[in-house]
Amino acid sequence: MEEFVNELTKALFLNNPLFWLFVIIGIIGIVIFFLRIKVIGDVGEWTVDQKLKELPNDIYKVLDDVMLEINGITHQIDHIVISKYGIFVIETKCYKGLITGKENDYYWYQHLGSKKYKLKNPIHQNYGHIKSISEALNINEKNLTSIVCFTNQSDLRIDVNSIVIQRKDLANKILELSNIEKNINVDNVYNQISTLNIVDKEKRKEHVLNARNKRNETETKINNMICPKCGGQLVIRNGKYGTFTGCSNYPKCNFTKN
Ligand SMILES: [Zn+2]
Repeated sequence: MEEFVNELTKALFLNNPLFWLFVIIGIIGIVIFFLRIKVIGDVGEWTVDQKLKELPNDIYKVLDDVMLEINGITHQIDHIVISKYGIFVIETKCYKGLITGKENDYYWYQHLGSKKYKLKNPIHQNYGHIKSISEALNINEKNLTSIVCFTNQSDLRIDVNSIVIQRKDLANKILELSNIEKNINVDNVYNQISTLNIVDKEKRKEHVLNARNKRNETETKINNMICPKCGGQLVIRNGKYGTFTGCSNYPKCNFTKN
């Protein structure tokens, strides 16, 4: 009997090319499935590009992956949409899963299962870009709107006044904000930013490296309770919502870490 089962197994499976074909298809399927999950995080920016193409291109001029050096600081800006309704500065975040944070927190958190990863508050990051563009191009800050855009796989549980949305809402959000014409020379702004944009690959690499060093410096300072903004001493304070780390030079310096 055992012999018979063994023979049957061989005939039906092991010696059957069809069986092996299914096994191979199965393995390829599993590999593709996992690769896709891994890749989803990286395609966030590309899919945002697609979303911005939905905007009528006679009204909205789009610049992607802009690198500017303003006052010695490198700004890497994912997308800038220029229109008579305003200049929209878009910071894309390729994070999925539960995202938590508040408007003024230094760090936000991504929760994946029981693990928690910190990310720098993207509102602050984008505000830095906006301030610099406003200064460099001599445009009123009011004409610049910050939009932070997460992937559709994100679950945003954040407490903010600024615009933080999912990719699928991006084009609609910009259209929704296009109600008041502002004093913006669209072609002029587009040309100015294009001229400032660093396109040389080597130069870009250098800037990325410098930015990383600067980031590490900031982290070290904070860990040593030194304010990265003014060099003052950081202190633990009691706030409305519990204790937090802030600069001892407040209100002159409003740095807080959360
Ligand atoms: Zn300070």
